[in-house]
Amino acid sequence: MTIPPIEVSFGAATDPGLKRALNEDALLAVAPIFLVADGMGGYDAGEVASSTVVDEFSSLAGRPSLDMEDVKAAFTRARSRVDALPAEEGSGPGTTLTGVAIAEHGGGGYWLVFNVGDSRTYRLANGNLEQISVDHSVVQELIEDGSLSEAAARVDRRRNVVTRAIGAGDKGAPDYWLLPAVTGDRLLVCSDGLTGELTDEQIQAVLLDESSPQAAANRLVHEARLLGARDNVTAVVVDAIAVHLAPDEAVGTDDDTVPRKGREEV
Ligand code: MN
Repeated sequence: MTIPPIEVSFGAATDPGLKRALNEDALLAVAPIFLVADGMGGYDAGEVASSTVVDEFSSLAGRPSLDMEDVKAAFTRARSRVDALPAEEGSGPGTTLTGVAIAEHGGGGYWLVFNVGDSRTYRLANGNLEQISVDHSVVQELIEDGSLSEAAARVDRRRNVVTRAIGAGDKGAPDYWLLPAVTGDRLLVCSDGLTGELTDEQIQAVLLDESSPQAAANRLVHEARLLGARDNVTAVVVDAIAVHLAPDEAVGTDDDTVPRKGREEV
């Protein structure tokens, strides 16, 4: 039996929130793959799109680790299936997708983070929360060109407009990041229904306060409900409880083939 490069403990929670009749978020939390998809489209089309993506990525569950090609191939298959769904509106149903896979590189354990759309993947390391994924959204573009502050973006009427998706007539490529894993890392994968209610500071406080990943996921969803939960809310929390590294690749060794935070377009 192959030992996985990262041993994880994880938990997940999802809730329709207080204003929406349907939960169009979907999640997958089975090692070595953890993801959240936030569906969009009329009636139940968004729910079908997000659950289709989860179904496709479920084929990756149960392996010790994945590589970039596994995840890219699953993206391609998922996109084909969502594009084939019946379109009840102009551009058809669509979904965001973000998450993290356990990956092996040179005998070491890495987090392979992927994103298309405005769901988010964060990492809590050494007590500090860092957003790894970069939103594909109109307000993110305005933040980057300096015409909108992050505070203003939170209340901007365009805050839910994504610039890349799976389906919805879009072909935009996912972004990828390959990060060396360290024992004690905590990853959070969540939908915008969480980040629309809680600030990064509030999210960090919950992640530091709750030791069990399941308790942390439950508490994040609970806090979003206390703040109004205007959208569906989903949180997946993944802890690295052990990272197996090859003897010549100890933590702290520079590995110039894999940046601490790199980015690759498909
Ligand atoms: Mn949402």
